[in-house]
Amino acid sequence: MGLMPPDAVVLALDLGATQIRAAAILAGGDRLERRAAATPVQSGEEGIFRACAEILFGVRDALPGNVRDRLVAIGISSMGPVDPWRGLVVDPPNLPVLRDSPLADEMERRVGLPAYLERDTNVAALAEHWLGAARGCADFLYVTVSTGLGGAIVRDGALVLGPDGTAGELGHITLIADGGPRCGCGGTGHLEAIAAGAGLAAEAQEALSAGESSFLATRARVRSAAGRSAAGLGTEGRGTEGRPLTATDVADGELAGDPTCIRLMERARLAFAIACVGWVNEFNPERIVVGGTLADRQGERWLAPARDQVARTAFRTPAARVRIVPAELGQDVGLVGAWPLVEDRHGDPVWRERSARP
Ligand SMILES: [Zn+2]
Repeated sequence: MGLMPPDAVVLALDLGATQIRAAAILAGGDRLERRAAATPVQSGEEGIFRACAEILFGVRDALPGNVRDRLVAIGISSMGPVDPWRGLVVDPPNLPVLRDSPLADEMERRVGLPAYLERDTNVAALAEHWLGAARGCADFLYVTVSTGLGGAIVRDGALVLGPDGTAGELGHITLIADGGPRCGCGGTGHLEAIAAGAGLAAEAQEALSAGESSFLATRARVRSAAGRSAAGLGTEGRGTEGRPLTATDVADGELAGDPTCIRLMERARLAFAIACVGWVNEFNPERIVVGGTLADRQGERWLAPARDQVARTAFRTPAARVRIVPAELGQDVGLVGAWPLVEDRHGDPVWRERSARP
């Protein structure tokens, strides 16, 4: 809207299911006073509001006076779904104590700055557009592959929100029409259930129960022994001891040559590659920017089959244009995106009235 002073500073808040992160973001993208705290999942909505406000106070109070004086607003990245017009966190599957929770209003009231809220993947897309792998792209998709598989659509330089703000859930397309693994959203056969961490972990657990994988059986045995001794030493909760199998175990099993793990990882990459073909045909994006811990760790192993599948099976013209590239901003993506989020919305009454989309 052009109402942001060019040297404005934004307080960024990134609310996730395990961590709350915050920082001050300067106009060039520098992050000051970056800090993190565990999300107090047991302490209810009020406990989460309080923890979010406290971390923002911590950042604000540590800033030099000449930076603090330039603070204009708070940009909030939250796990979805969210209602960005009303500033509500709607009902995130990973944090069910929040339900139509007025996070933007509460931060505004407690911290005393206007607050703008958007889904984490949308904020990440704004960050990658501003300073990362989608610089200069008017039309691109952002995809994150970690525990879940989230997405964002940018068209003509702006986020595609839909009338409810829920557009861009790229992980919840159905790839298996008649069944398939259960998804975190309640559906079955969705891309997320096949290709992201929670789904891979569930499949690994099933293979373990069925006695199909000696690698996973060994991993589980070592894990539970370590868990018992860690608990005995009073250090439970550290590391991964005693926890069930994870996607990392499946990825390690593939590298160790375990046939079950190889099958699961190959299927995950194929599912992602097939989804990319669909996105290229549907959206004609200049880029598909891929972030998230699982994709980061897999690197070219994850991206190369997608590029290959698109080159072989997508429509020729959009396939020739698209570039499938790794995200560049890593963990800070949800903080950095707060600046362009506020720049886009600050002073615009559409985002200030806290009513439904006009
Ligand atoms: Zn789903």
